[in-house]
Amino acid sequence: MKKTIYLDYNATTPVDKSVLEAMLPYFSENFGNASSRTHTYGWLANDAVKNGREQVAELINCTPQEIAFTSGSTEAINLAIKGVWDIYKKKGQHIITVKTEHKAVLDTCKALEAQGAEITYLDVDHNGLIDLKQLEESLKTETILVAVMYANNETGVVQPISKIAEFVHSNKSIFLCDATQAIGKVPIDVQTEGIDLMCISAHKMYGPKGVGALYVRRRGPRVNLLPQITGGGHERGLRSGTLNVAGIVALGKACEIAQHDMAKDEQRINTLRELLEFELLKLDDIVINSKNAKRLFNTTSITFKGLRSEKIIAKLIGIAVAMGSACTAATDEPSHVLKAMNIPEADISSTLRFSLGKLTTEEEIRTTVETLKKALNSLKKDI
Ligand code: PLP
Repeated sequence: MKKTIYLDYNATTPVDKSVLEAMLPYFSENFGNASSRTHTYGWLANDAVKNGREQVAELINCTPQEIAFTSGSTEAINLAIKGVWDIYKKKGQHIITVKTEHKAVLDTCKALEAQGAEITYLDVDHNGLIDLKQLEESLKTETILVAVMYANNETGVVQPISKIAEFVHSNKSIFLCDATQAIGKVPIDVQTEGIDLMCISAHKMYGPKGVGALYVRRRGPRVNLLPQITGGGHERGLRSGTLNVAGIVALGKACEIAQHDMAKDEQRINTLRELLEFELLKLDDIVINSKNAKRLFNTTSITFKGLRSEKIIAKLIGIAVAMGSACTAATDEPSHVLKAMNIPEADISSTLRFSLGKLTTEEEIRTTVETLKKALNSLKKDI
């Protein structure tokens, strides 16, 4: 049987062979609890966690003490937003975020609204970029937190992170950046980019599902968080629970590989994305969303005007693509990201997201283009 062509790397990625190899011993012979301090099993596990922490810190240029391991980005985002709210709400009760954030951010903000938080949801332009002027005007003395994602999971659009950080800090607020889609693809330096809190997730960067981390700034100035999971005081009290040693080893290894391979992956995958877009733009009624903005090199959101995306997908046998983001697919609502970009509802339901990755080949892209052409022709005949 022919293998399905996978073009949904923004939903999740396969685990890299070296990552799997690195983590496997921590399920079997090195199964110890990293908190066991009285025997070699514990010491080995603790050493492995220490190493993983250093590898993550190295990738984003922070100290290992500034990394708290979590079950993924959703948990890290909850810890960051609720943790800041619980500590700083006496100082102010205003939070700023963006309409195109991931639901992990939006739903968490919504939960705080029920507790009295005032949330400003910034608009985006047609490309999905925020307006720095609107950000500046929205900041006030009571603003304790600003949450803006590094790159969008549906369109790949990259926000001007350093500039955002400057505005946020000049107001003495805290800057949370959801880097789930960007980490491992583009170099991120939390020092030079002025990020105070940042979440990452292993399964978006060729690691396993169920492990991630939150970077929490400890110097100049330190960010305080109230833990959301208590019991045992792991992760410097920020996130209790027995550490997922194998997962942490995997996340660390994934970070190490990303650091090493990033530039070469970017060049190769970008060429393939360009090829896909170039070939599809030869057809009628195709729009590439956010084409004029800085985007992640692996992502393209394409509107096939006049055709419904679920009908196209039904014809794309042997090709795995997404309608919007996998994380919001459960709700079946039209993409809130494209809606915020002022894309008409009819076009939103005609949009597919293609996200390429390390294992994508030129042959796969050419097959995708041919399959798409046939699918579009046959659907157009039915109209
Ligand atoms: N933030 C963004 C931008 C994402 O794309 C995702 C997952 O799709 C998440 C957060 C949630 O990450 P996790 O699956 O690690 O909880």
